[in-house]
This record gives sequence, C-alpha cells and structure tokens, in this order.
Amino acid sequence: MSLFRDDGVVLRAQKLGEADRIITLLTRQHGKVRAVARGVRKTKSKFGARLEPFSHVDVQFFSRGSELFGRGLPLCTQVETIAPYGGSIVTDYGRYTAGTAMLETAERFAENEGEPAVQQYLLLVGGLRTLAAGVHESHLVLDAFLLRSLAVNGYGASFTDCAKCGLEGPNRFFSLPAGGVLCGDCRVPGCAVPSPETLVLLGALLSGDWQTADACEPRYWREGSGLVAAYLQWHLERGIRSMRYVEK
Ligand SMILES: [Zn+2]
Repeated sequence: MSLFRDDGVVLRAQKLGEADRIITLLTRQHGKVRAVARGVRKTKSKFGARLEPFSHVDVQFFSRGSELFGRGLPLCTQVETIAPYGGSIVTDYGRYTAGTAMLETAERFAENEGEPAVQQYLLLVGGLRTLAAGVHESHLVLDAFLLRSLAVNGYGASFTDCAKCGLEGPNRFFSLPAGGVLCGDCRVPGCAVPSPETLVLLGALLSGDWQTADACEPRYWREGSGLVAAYLQWHLERGIRSMRYVEK
C-alpha cells in the first residue's frame, strides 16, 4: 500500500453508487489519473465540493499496490484546493462552454493514464486561470489553448512563414495537411485562403500576444475559430464533442 501526492485539474466527476464518485484528473506528475472519492455526494461533504470540474487541487491518493495504477482505482484520501476556477467559469455560459471544450481536449491529448503530460497540464492550468479571470473573450482563450495544445503535442502550426520551405511571411495559402500557411510556390490544391487579419490573429493566439489578439476585429474571430477547429479535427481521430456548444 502506498500514498502518492500530486496536484491536478479535475476533468470529470462521475457518479459511483449511492455516495461516491470517480474523479478524472490531469495531474502534474502522473498525467491522467482516475480515482475514487468516497462519500463526496453527501450534502455536507466539503471534500466533494473541492472535486468539481475545473478545480485545481492538491490530492493525496491511496493505492493498494506499490504503484499508483494497476490494482484497481486509487482512492482520493485528502484534497486541498489550490484554485477553485469552477466558481467563475460555471456561472458564465461562454466561459463554461469554452472551459468544457478545454477539459475535453486536455483529456484527449493525455489519454494514456499515468503517462506524464507536463506541458499539457501547464497549458490547462494557465488556460483555466485566464478563462476564469474573464479579461479576454472566452472563445479566444479556447482557441489559444487549442493551438498551443496542438503545438506541445507535435502539431505546431505556422501562420506566417511557409510551413514547407520556410519562406518568410506573410503567406496566404492555408493547408491542414501541411500544418499551416504555404507560399505561392509550395501551395497545394485544396488550400484555404483566409483573410490576412485572421492569420495575424491565429499567430498572436499561438504566441500569447494578447494585445494583438484583443485588438483584432470581431469579424475575423469566426474564420479563425473555424480554422482552429478544422486543424484540431485533422489531428484527432474523433472530434471534440463540446466544441459544438462554443459560441463564436
Ligand atoms: Zn514555400
């Protein structure tokens, strides 16, 4: 029997029996972890309130074996709140739908339990913090998170220099298989030709240039979100279900 301690973000909480829940977390050191939380559905459980989706928590796990995985699900035995992001996310429809898509995407990219996904974890914590603060448009926070998630998982897109030959941008022809924009010489059939402003927006979201992203005219948001969604879809076998609820 062993104890493990880690911090993580609660991705999901599913009912188990009368009073318990199975909690899915994306943790800093152990990647995706599923664990049982006993008695959390009783009305007075403070423990249960800390294990709601979007919460950033410090958890102690109890495992029957010497590893965190393998012999049944571990138990959550202690939980401390680091940041209760859910509070300001679930009360706003735009934040809630964007946040839900972020949790689902993070889980998809960290599908293998126990396999560390530190960069994905850090992106999720940063993304939820930004979303909860409400300083930027929720769907822009989501798109920035999606572009960066793709990048840390090996699918970084280029929105300025040609993705094939590296010709300095701006370049106009956007290709999903090529991973970004292409120059006139490298362009392939089936390229999209987005507005230059949309490509500037996407580049800003990827690099974290919020000043440029916030100043972008709303009419380019939708085109940008469409390209991000298509690019994500291209690299994931199944789509992200919660994306369809995000308001643009
Ligand atoms: Zn080129």
